[in-house]
Amino acid sequence: MAKQFLVVAEARSGKLRQVSFEALRSAQLSAADGDTLAAVLIGGAGTKALASELAAYGAEAIYVVEDPQLESYSSEAYLSALLAVAAIAGPQALYFGHTAIGRDLAPLAAASLSSGQISDVTGVERSGDNVSFTRPLYAGKAVEKKAFTDPDAPWVVTIRPNNIAATEPDASRQAQLIDVAYPAPSLRSIIREVVKKTSGAIDLAEAKIVVSGGRGVRSADGFQPLEELAAVLGGAVGASRGACDAGYCEYAMQIGQTGKVVTPEIYIACGISGAIQHLAGMSSSRVIIAINKDAEAPIFKVADYGIVGDLFEVVPLLTAEFKKLLA
Ligand code: FAD
Repeated sequence: MAKQFLVVAEARSGKLRQVSFEALRSAQLSAADGDTLAAVLIGGAGTKALASELAAYGAEAIYVVEDPQLESYSSEAYLSALLAVAAIAGPQALYFGHTAIGRDLAPLAAASLSSGQISDVTGVERSGDNVSFTRPLYAGKAVEKKAFTDPDAPWVVTIRPNNIAATEPDASRQAQLIDVAYPAPSLRSIIREVVKKTSGAIDLAEAKIVVSGGRGVRSADGFQPLEELAAVLGGAVGASRGACDAGYCEYAMQIGQTGKVVTPEIYIACGISGAIQHLAGMSSSRVIIAINKDAEAPIFKVADYGIVGDLFEVVPLLTAEFKKLLA
């Protein structure tokens, strides 16, 4: 019997996040011929307008729960909307981005649906009726392959951004739109206001290029050359905890074991020593470039390219060269 593989799409500032398209591809890789690739959009007024893009990326059915009370994310409200969709769709599996929202909502959904959950998935394989999910362990030093065992409970999976390539979008693809009424539960808490602390021009977790600064930047102003390099490359700026603890930047920029995990195509570490807790958040990057004035810094052990030098000399030189190359 055909099953539904349901992706919980996520938008930010009215734009769908790339990881939602990657989750669609992951769902597609898990599904058998004849299964349905579906998506759910939950949000305030105008949310439905995002459906055509999900269709372009392969969603065949799109459930839309649109209500002014869903304008900002709230665990209780979004869970209630999602469970209303699950009750109609009866999905075989639910896929979330491994984002702040996905990490909050997925376990709530799993508990409510008596499901198992596999988190932070970087690969999906189907062989016959068996579907296995790959996820990193021990800060990326090992990987494990997991599978769900209960055929009756839906699977809940979170997908790490930037690991499973989305399919090419095709604007001619159409999807069936299904409006689902928001059950409007009586909430124990409500969102009064959301105060954004970062510009969020490019999402750190999804950026293809990340330029990161450590304690070696020496001050908040020391991030300026890194921001200029990131702007030229179309990347995002991250940081080590050393830089955050020193007050040079927001904790929202922290990469590592207790910060964000990033897997960009290029990671440029500037003035970062390479502590194991930092490596936990960036060692799976495709290409690592380290700039450090200490030739013995441990970051060079994981770097593909190392530049021994003062970041305040090297970074502006790189920016100038990339400006010329990309002009
Ligand atoms: P430092 O170790 O002080 O290194 C600064 C580097 O800058 C040095 O290598 C120096 O040679 C270089 N440098 C200085 N000046 C220049 C210059 N002008 N040009 C070029 N290079 C220069 N850390 C994280 O990053 N993320 C985490 O999530 C995280 N979680 C943690 C969790 C726990 C439980 C613990 C105990 C620690 C955690 N840490 C984390 C902290 C971690 O152990 C390190 O202390 C931290 O990563 C060090 O930051 P840093 O490399 O910026 O600073």
